[in-house]
Amino acid sequence: MEETIFDKILAGDIPADKVFEDDHVLAFRDVNPRAPVHVLVIPKKKVVTFTELKDRETEEVGLFFQRVAEVAEQLGLDEEGYRIVMNKGKHGQQTVHYIHAHILGGRQMSWPPG
Ligand code: 5GP
Repeated sequence: MEETIFDKILAGDIPADKVFEDDHVLAFRDVNPRAPVHVLVIPKKKVVTFTELKDRETEEVGLFFQRVAEVAEQLGLDEEGYRIVMNKGKHGQQTVHYIHAHILGGRQMSWPPG
């Protein structure tokens, strides 16, 4: 399996601005923020793409999304709202092959996304 920049962040080999960490996930600020708040959440047990979630335990998948919601809440985004983005593959423009949820907030989003 290809080692990605997120594997290195998780291993502590590359610094990241962490906002949340527990046994299951790590959340850190995106190095190239697309909104006033732009945080990435990754599961510690590696998943490469969204598709792979169908082969994982329901508990593991559910826990990941619960943590995403908790991190967004802790970031103070609940009242005004926020956007969760998960890119998959070429058309989805996934650039890092380690699953991650983008939490984007702090500004008005538009629809449809580009
Ligand atoms: P994707 O396009 O795969 O959905 O998103 C990957 C995200 O990772 C991008 O928003 C990019 O800015 C972010 N990113 C890439 N390299 C690094 C890094 O070294 N540190 C952090 N914090 N974010 C990164």
